Amino acid sequence: MISEKKSIKRLTFDELQATLEIMGLRGYRAGQITSWIYQHYAVTFEEMTNIAKGERDQLAAAFSLPAPSLLQAERSSDGTRKFLFGLEDGHAIESVLIPDDDRLTLCISSQVGCQQACRFCLTGQGGFARNLLFYEISDQVLEVSRILRNEGSRGITNIVLMGMGEPLANLEEVLKAVRIITSDRALGISGRRITLSTDGLVPEIDALGRAGVKVNLAVSLNATTDETRDRIMPVNRRYPLMELLAACKRFPLEPRRRITFEYVLLKGINDSEDDALRLARLLKGIKCKVNLIPFNPFPGSEFKRPVDISVKRFQKILQDRHYTVLVRESRGRDISAACGQLRERASAGRH
Ligand code: SF4
Repeated sequence: MISEKKSIKRLTFDELQATLEIMGLRGYRAGQITSWIYQHYAVTFEEMTNIAKGERDQLAAAFSLPAPSLLQAERSSDGTRKFLFGLEDGHAIESVLIPDDDRLTLCISSQVGCQQACRFCLTGQGGFARNLLFYEISDQVLEVSRILRNEGSRGITNIVLMGMGEPLANLEEVLKAVRIITSDRALGISGRRITLSTDGLVPEIDALGRAGVKVNLAVSLNATTDETRDRIMPVNRRYPLMELLAACKRFPLEPRRRITFEYVLLKGINDSEDDALRLARLLKGIKCKVNLIPFNPFPGSEFKRPVDISVKRFQKILQDRHYTVLVRESRGRDISAACGQLRERASAGRH
């Protein structure tokens, strides 16, 4: 049910400060409230014991403090965990927690569904409902952190915006969410540990560069000719490869940082030796690393996973040309691995 009171999380820090002053509360309470919500996981104003009782009552009368509901959680045999969260308006989004050596990476969603319609992606096939608001993006980090704290587990170390949605198509809200995730008053995760992944929205890559937010950029490339990329990623018809790579070249990188190019290997489509050679030529002059992701078929998908030997051959061609290339397996294959699958299954179960 949608609460009639406004969620306090809908206010940015500056808006909260201004609102508190209008209510006759001291501006510094904004920092205390933020810390209670994001660092002490408070779910009521009553818990905020360093705020005077009368002021807590005033806050509770004016605001709600809702959290997304956890609709479903699954754990894979490889340690990957998926969480399906319900939003106030009944939509559901998913977040995936991926343990890896000393890292614990949370993959979060930025939209309900996605408009980009990449042919190899289940989320892309499911259509688009709406953009997430900034606090719905940061809440995924907050809620999974809360779960980990309650379990006594180690906390999230890295964030990737590679779940449902194209983050750069919702850039304004994503940037506000990043401010909460990185703020020392809130979730306190360094921007160097946050990666935004785009399918290639050139004006927004430039806008992200201008925004001065120190996060990592990943580009989902997946093809070495416009012909193939047009076919598997409709965004390429608006921003062809050369425009995209030019935007990558001019993207301002911090010292020692690199752009990550994601390349989903689709059998017989983009996994040939010629593709690998072309990719090596295309990326020349860009400070980058490459993640090769053998396609993980989902029910009804038109593509196949390449055999391991062609994955290795592709990797070697790039490595021989001095690229850093990792082969990344889709994690959590036994629990609906690709983004969108948990949501699809949950909604399939509802109908
Ligand atoms: S791969 Fe990413 S950008 Fe493409 S449809 Fe899927 S969620 Fe959207």
